[in-house]
Amino acid sequence: MSSIGVLALQGDFDKHLAMLRGLGQAAQALRDASELPGISGLIIPGGESTTIGMLMERRGLLEPLRAAIAAGLPVFGTCAGTILLAKEIEGSDQIRLGSMDMRVLRNAYGSQVDSFEARLDFNDAEHGKILELEGVFIRAPRIESLGPGLKVLSEFDGRPVLVRQGKMLAATFHPELTSSSAVHAYFLETLCGLSLSSANTPPAS
Ligand code: GLN
Repeated sequence: MSSIGVLALQGDFDKHLAMLRGLGQAAQALRDASELPGISGLIIPGGESTTIGMLMERRGLLEPLRAAIAAGLPVFGTCAGTILLAKEIEGSDQIRLGSMDMRVLRNAYGSQVDSFEARLDFNDAEHGKILELEGVFIRAPRIESLGPGLKVLSEFDGRPVLVRQGKMLAATFHPELTSSSAVHAYFLETLCGLSLSSANTPPAS
């Protein structure tokens, strides 16, 4: 069975591993470039994007990951993972993968409101369904602008919070911290081309 890698340098990678395994999907922590050939998709978790970026560089993962993503490895970033996937990070020259054609602003929702939750509509147009999600935003970035090749799958306050560019998916919130596995299931089925058993597939709302 194909395995999904979760970048496990810093942040809440264990929550992603648990969610994938809860869907019946084989998953492994990824810490070394030598593990890349064994995976059919990659999740970059939330955490601290500057730390994860530095550790990626230190461990020689930056170039191999960039190359694997450019060659079509499906990737899903959440929060800090989204920051690392963005080409542009406002006011920052921090290390990043820079794979997705978008500009983000870190910690955009202000220091007083560091965390909040909001109901989101996840528009899975390909399958003609709209799912209701609970969005957990923790010192979240905001997507400020998007290139033409990006699709917005969910919005909050008039801004995109879940976007897709080909086989790359990015959320500014944390679906791994909720009971709904809809976004992970979407990543596995639609971007990685894997099939989940129907017992594990979230129902359409
Ligand atoms: N604010 C963090 C950063 O800039 C991201 C927060 C998160 O991943 N929950 O990296």
